[in-house]
Amino acid sequence: MTLKHLFLLLAGLQGAGLAQAGGPLAVEGSGGNSPVHYSPASININFDIGPLGARTNAEADDLVLRAFALWNNVASSSLQLLQGNDLGTDVDVSNYTTFIPDTSTSHPANSDQLNPMVYDDDGTIIDDMFGQGASNNIAGFAASVYLLGDDKFQEGYAVINGKLSLLDSDIIGLVTHEMGHFIGLDHSQLDIDNTETDSGSPAVCTTQAVKDRYPIMYPFLCRVTNSLHADDIAALAALYPEPNNITLNFGQINGVLVDTNNNPVPGANIWLKNLATGTRYSIVSDYLLQNTGFFAVYLPPGDYSLHANSINPIFYGASSVGPYALSQTDVSFQNPVTAVSFQGSTPGSDEIINIAAGAARQVKFVIDGSGTVTPGGIVTPPASVPASTSSGAISLASVLALVSGLVLMRRRQVMVGCIS
Ligand SMILES: [Zn+2]
Repeated sequence: MTLKHLFLLLAGLQGAGLAQAGGPLAVEGSGGNSPVHYSPASININFDIGPLGARTNAEADDLVLRAFALWNNVASSSLQLLQGNDLGTDVDVSNYTTFIPDTSTSHPANSDQLNPMVYDDDGTIIDDMFGQGASNNIAGFAASVYLLGDDKFQEGYAVINGKLSLLDSDIIGLVTHEMGHFIGLDHSQLDIDNTETDSGSPAVCTTQAVKDRYPIMYPFLCRVTNSLHADDIAALAALYPEPNNITLNFGQINGVLVDTNNNPVPGANIWLKNLATGTRYSIVSDYLLQNTGFFAVYLPPGDYSLHANSINPIFYGASSVGPYALSQTDVSFQNPVTAVSFQGSTPGSDEIINIAAGAARQVKFVIDGSGTVTPGGIVTPPASVPASTSSGAISLASVLALVSGLVLMRRRQVMVGCIS
């Protein structure tokens, strides 16, 4: 894939309603409002049989499986990333196009029942895809393919760069982040206050004393510990709910963000703070592209405060947070929301919202802090009518919902900036 091809691909992604929200990465389906996901939720990943730079194949497999385990060990989620049959060959620059899916519906790799985990031993695959020298910066990336009109991924792949000198924990973090995109999760901008900038020596990841306050799906890999943040878990459970557990472990807040004229406010960051633990959770308003300002977040039972702020202006394009941050002039940045806390019926102080397991609170959140909160039902994203594969019901074009990890070692931090 040439760089030009990549840019064309990005244009196609926008047209297809790619939703890079704090929840789902892509929103599609017959109505255009369904988060795209894998079904069934057990996904076989097919591993390369070659080495990963200085690491043997077995060592590389072990790191990847440790990343999978982080996503698999969530009781409220049915997702299982499994090691399937290996690819049977050492995938390299001479043969990778045989294995990885692309946007052509006729590409054999789109229907070969393989989800390759490719070890780009010397970075030459990444150079071939993104341009000479790209492998000095891109540590890995992942993508999954879906058809326009459908809300199910067909197949996906991940490529890990073996050329860079990375710690084991960095590779686990990178693979965890990229597989998050593979399964359809987007970035989250927790836990920042929008004072972070990337000018000069990057301050990203450094303004918080505790780096594990950042989710694994933060646009940069700030998180130190190889574990999921509560925000990652909530987003995963929303996309791959385990039906017997999710209502035992979570309640939900849902509602709309509107301006003082009752017009929907899309593309703002909605976040909640658990008042007992301080743990925060987020989503982007109107993440389902309904033009209502809708948001919904699964939350463990407890008392919460509710807040909105703008998407940080460094999170656009490759590192975008939300469906309205594809460029620096996109909706999220045109009239950025002034940071505000929901005060509801108690002007002057944050309203405490109690969330109980299996129950929901419905909020009308006005950007001046006023609004209402009432009991309501748990809202699940609109399910899509299964796309027909035998008629013209779906477009012939398919889409890569995708992303890339751009890794630079800065202050011993792995920076993951995603290409789309
Ligand atoms: Zn990313």
